[in-house]
Amino acid sequence: MEFTTLLEGIVARMRTAPDKGRVADYIPELASVDPDQFGIALALADGRFFAAGDADTAFSIQSVSKVFTLALALGRLGDGLWHRVGREPSGLPFNSILQLEHEKGIPRNPFINAGALVVTDAILAGHQPREVLGEILRFVRAAADDEHIHIDEAVARSETDHGHRNMALAYFLAAHGNFVNSPELTCGTYFHQCAIEMTVRQLAMAGRFLVGGPGKPNLISRDSVRRINALMLTCGHYDGSGDFAYRVGLPGKSGVGGGILVIAPGRASIAVWSPGLNQHGNSALGTLAVEHLARETGWSIFG
Ligand code: GLN
Repeated sequence: MEFTTLLEGIVARMRTAPDKGRVADYIPELASVDPDQFGIALALADGRFFAAGDADTAFSIQSVSKVFTLALALGRLGDGLWHRVGREPSGLPFNSILQLEHEKGIPRNPFINAGALVVTDAILAGHQPREVLGEILRFVRAAADDEHIHIDEAVARSETDHGHRNMALAYFLAAHGNFVNSPELTCGTYFHQCAIEMTVRQLAMAGRFLVGGPGKPNLISRDSVRRINALMLTCGHYDGSGDFAYRVGLPGKSGVGGGILVIAPGRASIAVWSPGLNQHGNSALGTLAVEHLARETGWSIFG
């Protein structure tokens, strides 16, 4: 398999794809991102690395950050985390509040916003936001082997100014006794983790700890690797998770900045970015691109 040719071919196909989706605009700072950008990167388990397209342009990782905070929370709390958040797909949009009322403030999974807020609240307990954000950045930088990864303050501020829906989720969780810190502190920390900027090169490198096998950054246990991959497959694309599993057949986590981290267990960490989103808030061309990649390589967890 000639990976350079494969990735260049995918970039060329995406440049002429008919439906690029729509850029997220509920965070005003993201609304101004040029939708005609596409980048893809591949970090193979054997150490080889390939990238094509806009692979050196940084974008807002948004909900892809939930993978890193989940890894930190599992390391710190272990199975205790599951008293506060479930492990079932929600079948509803990422920012939905509906199930929280029926399910007594226990979010369905750690990747919908309500669940991710609980995860961030759990790692924030007993610490200052600054310390926890430092810890999240240290984790991401160690995973990517890159000290240049940072938070885009303008994006964090933009979401803080417009994040009423997440504040509502946080207050609802607090009303059910499933919040330790003030909604302001936890949401502030969450908005900053979502505002981490990375290129697809950096994100593909950072995902290697979820590939498994020797030679990868040994940041979490093998059990956690398997469990996070399972949650990415079942919940990583919200109410588009079934469609992503059907089309791509690999665990993935999307963000409204248009990035997706995809793991081919034992083989590769893949990062793709295109800012236009589909109706579920997942990158339209990013999904199409990894669908092509999975088909061409034959990578699938389903055989
Ligand atoms: N920061 C965004 C939000 O909370 C993340 C959502 C996403 O990427 N799906 O709305």
